[in-house]
Amino acid sequence: MAKTIQAIRGMNDILPDQSPAWQFVEGVLRQVAASYTYQEIRMPVLESTDLFKRSIGEVTDIVEKEMYTFDDRNGDSLTLRPEGTASCVRAGNEHGLLYNQTQRLWYMGPMFRHERPQKGRYRQFHQFGIEAFGMEGPDIDAEVILLSARLWQQFGISDQVELQLNSLASNEARARYRDALREFLRAHEDQLDEDSKRRLDTNVLRVLDSKSPETQQVLENAPKLSEYWDDESRAHFDGLCQRLDAAGIKYVLNERLVRGLDYYNRTVFEWVTTELGAQGTVCAGGRYDGLVEQLGGKATPAVGFAMGIERLVLLLASQDKIPATQTVDVYVIALNEAAELKAPAVAEQLRNEQQGLRVQLHSGSQNMKKKLAKADKSGAEYAVIIRDDDFEIKHLRDRDQVDRSAATIADVITLVANKEA
Ligand code: ATP
Ligand code: MG
Repeated sequence: MAKTIQAIRGMNDILPDQSPAWQFVEGVLRQVAASYTYQEIRMPVLESTDLFKRSIGEVTDIVEKEMYTFDDRNGDSLTLRPEGTASCVRAGNEHGLLYNQTQRLWYMGPMFRHERPQKGRYRQFHQFGIEAFGMEGPDIDAEVILLSARLWQQFGISDQVELQLNSLASNEARARYRDALREFLRAHEDQLDEDSKRRLDTNVLRVLDSKSPETQQVLENAPKLSEYWDDESRAHFDGLCQRLDAAGIKYVLNERLVRGLDYYNRTVFEWVTTELGAQGTVCAGGRYDGLVEQLGGKATPAVGFAMGIERLVLLLASQDKIPATQTVDVYVIALNEAAELKAPAVAEQLRNEQQGLRVQLHSGSQNMKKKLAKADKSGAEYAVIIRDDDFEIKHLRDRDQVDRSAATIADVITLVANKEA
């Protein structure tokens, strides 16, 4: 036998027994996004490498070590998108969607990062993202967070996720804080982990979410970002908190929440669960008021989030919140040659009669018992058994219900239609 070829490590097939869960999740995401009047945007999975370097930042985990970057046949450097916001802003600028107007957008699709694969962390994964452009007040931050909260509510997992909130304030305030933090950490440099030492010069804010206990110990006495907030950012943040309070949304303030992408300012937030081990962040986002301009557009305030769909599906499965699905409603069996010739037409008639009815036609010649066993295994509600011109309807799920023999196609349709209605 020929050697089999395997999928790329960290890139998963979503198999037929998993796709109903994905369809369920995607359906809820679409429906909730629509209920806040967000419109879908679809971007290509490949972009110019510069797009991500300029937006996410050169000194971030993503750009430093996680991107799938290659030269195409023309010698242009391309990158498989590691996230959606940069592409969304690029598309918005390119098509004039952001110029002097507001936009409420959502996207969903695969993202690519060369990370160490583990539970909840893959090299191809999927994100659902929300981006709101052209609105600077805290009301829109609140809207975006309320939208995410509604998702948890719809999925029945509100008790499994916690909202963490922080403000990165203005660029100027953050720059002052960066200096103060760097100065403080320099005095304790010998106690820092290697990554944090390196980040002192390049991206000192990222030291705040170091996983090292020693570094976290040092940070206990470090200056706090909130001590450096500018008045406007403080008022914006207070405005957001008041709106969340009024809407009954609980949150915790996490002073060390800084996010790994350079483009954020003011509001940042994460929805975190304890049910998924180390990969506990299901959804993360914030404000990025400078990005549109940074990518060549007119200065436009913006706020959004991205949700990891794999992590969401894992969380839902762990809480038994994925509804059971049935893929077949009616299973059609022919018992003799005359019936076999007619069976496809009967199946068509059933499909004509009721839109969306899922009709599986038995294929292959087996004995009656095997055919019925297959019908049963399909999960169908009914088996329709054809012999010459006669129909028999068998109710497969309810043994007590009387089966009908010598029925007509009209009977079959009526019975199935009533049941489905
Ligand atoms: P983490 O800290 O877990 O690496 P991140 O800060 O890199 O996450 P973001 O870039 O903010 O993540 O992406 C938003 C969401 O996308 C994450 O909260 C997570 O749910 C999901 N996500 C990010 N990277 C991966 C991945 N490699 N595999 C699966 N999901 C991911
Ligand atoms: Mg990451």
